[in-house]
Amino acid sequence: MIESILDKSVLQFEDIVQLLDCNILDAKKLYEHAAQIKKQYVQDKVYFRGLIEFSNFCSKDCLYCGIRKSNTKILRYNLSDEEIIDAAVFAYNSNYASIVIQSGEISNPVFSRRISNLLDKIHQKTNNNLRITLSCGEQSNEIYQDWYNAGANRYLLRIETTNKDLYYKIHPNDKHHSFEKRINCLYDLKNIGYQTGTGVMIGLPFQTIEHLAKDLLWMQEFDVDMVGMGPYIEHEDTPLYEFKQHLLPLEERFDLSLKMIAILRIMMKNINIAAATSLQTIDKMGREKGIKVGANVIMPNITPGGYRKHYKLYDNKPCIDENADDCKPCLEMRIALIGNEIAYNEWGDSSHFEHRFKNESE
Ligand code: SAM
Ligand code: SF4
Repeated sequence: MIESILDKSVLQFEDIVQLLDCNILDAKKLYEHAAQIKKQYVQDKVYFRGLIEFSNFCSKDCLYCGIRKSNTKILRYNLSDEEIIDAAVFAYNSNYASIVIQSGEISNPVFSRRISNLLDKIHQKTNNNLRITLSCGEQSNEIYQDWYNAGANRYLLRIETTNKDLYYKIHPNDKHHSFEKRINCLYDLKNIGYQTGTGVMIGLPFQTIEHLAKDLLWMQEFDVDMVGMGPYIEHEDTPLYEFKQHLLPLEERFDLSLKMIAILRIMMKNINIAAATSLQTIDKMGREKGIKVGANVIMPNITPGGYRKHYKLYDNKPCIDENADDCKPCLEMRIALIGNEIAYNEWGDSSHFEHRFKNESE
């Protein structure tokens, strides 16, 4: 009986596996329960984070990602400082209150200084009134600290999977792709004081629901503040494409992603959960469905239109030929349709982080 699982105050591994494996009727009950918890703990609000994909240069070779270093078929780009600042100002003027600055992974002093300068300039141009999330991969503790000091408040670094064997099936097994390093980076970020975000891909080849259940328990144990997770979608010019025949059908990856969001909302009631863009690749209303079952963050793409098609992580990535402004009215309409409200002009800090921070400083 799904009701008896949903009534529990703490979900165990077996409970989570059952929820991930439940049928459509039970999934509906799961979603309704998660939606109630969302309403009670974080309200029916959606926070926008304007996403600036500022460069697709990357030194890594993750086997699933379309902008991996060895993909020679893509055109590499790097937005100018001015273009990045203009996009940040666009978000500010559109009352988004937060942005995410994302790129491939580059680690060198020129890159790190550039990010620090950009943080400084963006804060100047937006009256210190914009929350900035970085998502620029694995860096040293010192660099994370420098960026924090320069005004980055949040950091997103998906663990991708918490199963080490699976990790090395989807990454090269070499010193540039270390599972331990990724975990250590997450601890560094948390210790520095970032609102720390992570996440996994759902429906990877060789992934089981037991892996996913353990991913959720890991996030709970790590005490994460924010999560962004969504379906894995294949890209034909990546090595993982070879295992296409092992994949669940897209609809099943989508349903599993909704279940993951709903279960996480039940397990971690006051964190921020983003409805990933890859949900929208499978279903036009995918992100809104994610919001309905427990997510409370959407990251509208505000990268200047011409560059978007070159930040192609997977096949059929949506919104690649739109201008930043085009996304706003269509999102507003869709979010209103599911009875949620866009929290314009609110930073939408993770309330989990605020509680954690208060408890730690007491
Ligand atoms: N380079 C940074 C990093 O890896 O943390 C940030 C940018 S990376 C493109 C952002 C996320 O894209 C990754 O964490 C990964 O989960 C997701 N991603 C990459 N390829 C994907 C795919 N084929 N399907 C779904 N998500 C993908
Ligand atoms: Fe680079 Fe991030 Fe893609 Fe890995 S997931 S190849 S680090 S952009």
